[in-house]
Amino acid sequence: MIIKLSKRLQQIADWVPKNSRLADIGSDHALLPTYLAKEKHIVKAIAGEVNPGPFDAAVRQVKGARLESIIEVRRGDGLAVVQADEVDCITIAGMGGGLIVSILQAGVDKLSGVQRLVLQPNVGEDLVRQWLREEKWLLKAEHILEEDGKIYEVLLAERPIEGWQADEFVQADKSMYASRQLACGFVLDEQWLLKLGPYLSQEVSDVFIEKWQHEVNKQERILNTMAKSDAEETAERREQFVAYKSELEELIACWQKGRQ
Ligand code: SAM
Repeated sequence: MIIKLSKRLQQIADWVPKNSRLADIGSDHALLPTYLAKEKHIVKAIAGEVNPGPFDAAVRQVKGARLESIIEVRRGDGLAVVQADEVDCITIAGMGGGLIVSILQAGVDKLSGVQRLVLQPNVGEDLVRQWLREEKWLLKAEHILEEDGKIYEVLLAERPIEGWQADEFVQADKSMYASRQLACGFVLDEQWLLKLGPYLSQEVSDVFIEKWQHEVNKQERILNTMAKSDAEETAERREQFVAYKSELEELIACWQKGRQ
């Protein structure tokens, strides 16, 4: 059986290094490790699943593909299914950024031999970027794509190479998140860069602009709901939403102007 991955999963697969020992956490049907094992791209994989339904589906998938010698399906919460130094690449995809961070944080002791993380948060990408910085994982690349009406970001992070000094990480990280002024005058500070993505905000694509236009629309809907409420704290909160929305609109106008 030939496996055709979605565009989103294919992007993640493309960032798994050849001959990896992979852990795919929250693997669901284990499509990603099965595809990579069939392609002979990985030498070993652990497909981790906490929930019984997806776990059973993963077991069936691996068995059906006769890949039990390469892929082991393990049931457990996050990185609890992995031993330290057992894998060198970890993928965690299709869940919120907050959950991805809590999985990584709860399993930091399992990350000792891991050189690469490929993470695809459905929301809360800024939380993931913030965690990577705090834990000294260098964000190496970001990709944004649209599929079936949804927009996804994929983040690739690596541990600083051997011999890399702590202050080199600090320098690289500092320059990645250093404030930047756009041609229109808008300043992207650290908080904006964490939100937008330090790479994505440099190579502004149609999908990227669309993502942030959706965010403007979402803010508009929140403001409309607030307008119908007479809760006391609403005035101040409303001002914050108005300010955020107008900054986003300014940014989008800026990007569009820069692309003319
Ligand atoms: N990674 C696949 C993908 O991107 O297509 C599946 C994504 S699916 C939406 C999320 C999966 O993560 C579910 O199968 C869920 O059971 C699993 N999951 C959620 N929390 C988890 C955790 N703490 N540990 C392991 N798996 C988890």
